[in-house]
Amino acid sequence: MAACALTVLAALLCGCGADLESRETLYQVSTLKALAEGVRDGETPVRELLRRGDFGIGTFNGMDGEMVLVEDRCYQVRADGTVAVAEGDRQTPFAAVTFFEARRLSVLKEDSDLAALGKRLDALLAGPNLPHAVCVSGDFSYLKLRSVARQRKPYPPMAEVIRTQSVYELKDARGILVGFYMPQYLEGVNLPGYHFHFLSEDRRRGGHVLACRGKDLLLALAPIPRLHLALPKEGEFLKADLRVRDGAELQKAMQDPAPEIQKR
Ligand SMILES: [Zn+2]
Repeated sequence: MAACALTVLAALLCGCGADLESRETLYQVSTLKALAEGVRDGETPVRELLRRGDFGIGTFNGMDGEMVLVEDRCYQVRADGTVAVAEGDRQTPFAAVTFFEARRLSVLKEDSDLAALGKRLDALLAGPNLPHAVCVSGDFSYLKLRSVARQRKPYPPMAEVIRTQSVYELKDARGILVGFYMPQYLEGVNLPGYHFHFLSEDRRRGGHVLACRGKDLLLALAPIPRLHLALPKEGEFLKADLRVRDGAELQKAMQDPAPEIQKR
């Protein structure tokens, strides 16, 4: 069992010190559709995210890599898959965090890929209409991850960002998947279904998860009945077209672009 899993369990027991209002609340900066539409500079600093949660994912201004927030640290996964601690004054255009308190625990014994993991998690959800924080920890025999390099203004369309994303693989990596399940009705606000970022136990490797395989994984879930949506009060967010015309477009940007090259 990964050390981070023990931390998660400890958090379950101690309630992580979050005040009542912060517990069972998803604090989200902006919306995923806004990020896709080029609203990629936000004003919320990492230190604010750390005040709002100890578990979460997102990105940094200019989409400068993938964000993983675990315990009291926020990590930036650079385009090459290496990890750096993000300082408190770094800013985010899109992130979602919560204080993780595991309510549902299970072990996935069978050797499973991302689809099989999703199926098992589905069965553990309190119900499909509540967002959940989801933590999966253990030894992964295979991971296919991606990160993106910082973009410059004018920001390119999401499809182009995905075309130039860096995709890399890890074998036999111990670590944690940090992420969320979001209900379909939140499409555009966030990504419906599961969205994970990986962080290795030594906190040196990570990325947005495109594919994975592992067994004896510890699954921990926490239903989240409250949403705190922090929307930008000025700037490009105000005039961006945030209507979701084609939900598949957002899904495509977050999924494996070439599943046929998946190993095993
Ligand atoms: Zn991601």
